[in-house]
Amino acid sequence: MNQTSAIVLKPGKEKSLLRRHPWVFSGAVGKVTGTVKAGQFVALLSADQNFLGWAAFSPGSQIRARVWSFDEDRPVDAALIGEKIHRALKKRESIAKRSDALRLLHGEADGLPGVICDRYADWLVVQFNSAGALTLKSTIIQELIAHTGLKKIYERTDSDSLALEGLKVSCGPLTPQAKAALEETSTISIVENQIHYKVDIVEGHKTGFYVDQRENRALVKQLARGSVLNCFSYTGGFSLSALKAGAKRVVSVDSSASALALGLENAKLNGLDVHQSEWIEADVFKQLRACRANGETFDLIILDPPKFAPNAASVERACRAYKDINILGMQLLNPGGDLLTFSCSGAVSTDLFRKVVAGAGADANINMQVISNLSAGLDHPIDLAFPEGEYLKGIHLRRSE
Ligand code: SAH
Repeated sequence: MNQTSAIVLKPGKEKSLLRRHPWVFSGAVGKVTGTVKAGQFVALLSADQNFLGWAAFSPGSQIRARVWSFDEDRPVDAALIGEKIHRALKKRESIAKRSDALRLLHGEADGLPGVICDRYADWLVVQFNSAGALTLKSTIIQELIAHTGLKKIYERTDSDSLALEGLKVSCGPLTPQAKAALEETSTISIVENQIHYKVDIVEGHKTGFYVDQRENRALVKQLARGSVLNCFSYTGGFSLSALKAGAKRVVSVDSSASALALGLENAKLNGLDVHQSEWIEADVFKQLRACRANGETFDLIILDPPKFAPNAASVERACRAYKDINILGMQLLNPGGDLLTFSCSGAVSTDLFRKVVAGAGADANINMQVISNLSAGLDHPIDLAFPEGEYLKGIHLRRSE
């Protein structure tokens, strides 16, 4: 911590910080006093020199600084990081009883900007997505080991946002225990909602699994019946839930052959009747049209696409894509059928997503009822002061009879 250096904001730019929003955009910075290196923690001051927070400097990012502590008496040190990790783990105790795959640290919402940690059984998979997170890497790992007792730690700092932060990809085992275990296999077995999954922490997407959809997979376990179409299935999370629920035909569509192969392996692992499942490697946009041309219909359709809008500039195009798949999804539903439709684009707000899906219903000329709004589980907390954290939004709709 360098107490003589500081980041000083332009006049009036302190308002969002006073509401405890942790980001400082480049346009808000008036000056940086002293020599401040990337990832260094310094005081963040308003133009009239009032203390706002202890922030990490990110010269390579449009988000020029992120606040890790709003308390002047609590500069960022190992003790503070330990406390934050302790609080984060405590919040998740009840989820840990139901699943051994869960998010332990969720960046800004846990007061640890850019830090992600997912637990898979006795493994921790971590990402350091901000300059400050990188500075604290060894402290965070030590505190994670101290608070969880787990020693197999693997780094997957390879998210799309790294380039925007001016940071480099860094992947690999972080402990000797992780290195030794990886010589056997990179596939971890986990149990979620009484379903077994194999998760590839080295080659899989994100940290290996979409832990954020746990509660929605549980919903599918309640809803599934008849025929189910799971679009953008990845390794079959929703598909397995549907098969387990007794659906007669479950079609999974994804562009990744390896994800589909692991999905089939997961179905076998659970002793499910794989003859009731179809794993189709295809582009969902084309496959939905093919289903329509063939006159296929379904009782439950899941649309869980990748992030169509990685930034604000791509929102319009993304909305056209969301609308397209939702029109097709609605058309393929049997009367009384359920549609679970998602967006994980942080740049597309809940309101906008609702409007786009409503537009799809209007264009398809199909009446749909909103049954509930869906989101990530409580291990992906949303800080009221930080709405950007609410990236996953979904709607459970039912087609009128
Ligand atoms: N529903 C999944 C997660 C989906 S992630 C779960 O619960 O685990 C998005 C998936 O979409 C990825 O597996 C990716 O391979 C796939 N994908 C991306 N673009 C696609 C496209 N145009 N057609 C088919 N699959 C696509």
